[in-house]
Amino acid sequence: MTKLISKTIALLILTSFSMLKSQSVKEILKQNGSFRKDTIFSIKSDSKETYLPVTIIKGKEKGPVFTIVAGIHGYEYPPIIAVQELLKEIEPENIKGSLIIIPIANVESFLKRVPFVNPLDQKNLNTAFPGLSNGTPTDQIAHLITKEIIPNSTIFLDIHGGDASEDLLPFVCYYNRKDTPENTKRAHELSVKLGIQYVVSYPYTLTSTEPAKYAFKEATQQGITALSIEAGKLGTVQKDNVDLIKTAVYNMLENSGNYAVKKSKTVNQKSTVLLNQQDYIRVPENGIFYSELKSGDKVKKNQILGYISDEFGNKKYDIVSQTTGIILYKVGTPPVNKGETLFCIGYNE
Ligand SMILES: [Zn+2]
Repeated sequence: MTKLISKTIALLILTSFSMLKSQSVKEILKQNGSFRKDTIFSIKSDSKETYLPVTIIKGKEKGPVFTIVAGIHGYEYPPIIAVQELLKEIEPENIKGSLIIIPIANVESFLKRVPFVNPLDQKNLNTAFPGLSNGTPTDQIAHLITKEIIPNSTIFLDIHGGDASEDLLPFVCYYNRKDTPENTKRAHELSVKLGIQYVVSYPYTLTSTEPAKYAFKEATQQGITALSIEAGKLGTVQKDNVDLIKTAVYNMLENSGNYAVKKSKTVNQKSTVLLNQQDYIRVPENGIFYSELKSGDKVKKNQILGYISDEFGNKKYDIVSQTTGIILYKVGTPPVNKGETLFCIGYNE
């Protein structure tokens, strides 16, 4: 027991020490003048240490605070590389208001090349929100974003892609939160002007006390205009997806009033496809997955999308679509585990 108490006290001292070392985001945003500041938030939990890198770019003129997060999943490379290029290209003098940029939220997952989870605690940062101040490293990263980043944001953008095993069609998404109609309208307006053809809206039924799990759902719950871009797939850097993300971010920054330089490309809004429903097909049993289909393929109700076999090569299950729609993402590699999402089919109702 004594040991436990002293350990707790040591942890508290460490936590407060790490908080003392870095200025709060709010304090940095209040500083006068136009600047860029790269800062590190230290995270310590038992013997495990990591950090959250944050860049704050403040412009000369007043304007919204626009937050961009990449690398919540460290194996999703196009978002991370797109944000690296944005960090090189964006000059503070061209910014109105401020940008908060988290270039890699899950540094350990990135450096250790581990898909989905943080190798320090095997937790998925994207399902850890709102997080915990005294929890494992992943809990603490989520907590920092929840308390330090989201409340200081006017608009919150979380950029993802297909992880190592995921084949994904680029899309932008937001929650259709009906009791904050202004935010939802703003998220929709920003979404249709990005240059990404598919715009997905998710139902929002979260109460104020339920854990949001996802970063941009946490922001939605806090009453912030929040969106997520999904682009990239299968654990590689694809230049077309990096460019798609960059164009989308520049379009968004211009439409939000954060960017003074015209970098945007004209978007033909007529080509935008809205998908407000999703059908998730789960893996029925562990096995080897075969499918000729790719993300972006259109499928029909009752169509066989692929099959799962066992290790002996025996076919065990046909995967049948219950809906007519478009494949937003699917498992793109052979191994599959019971309960995972095998396909996400988007459609409109
Ligand atoms: Zn992700």
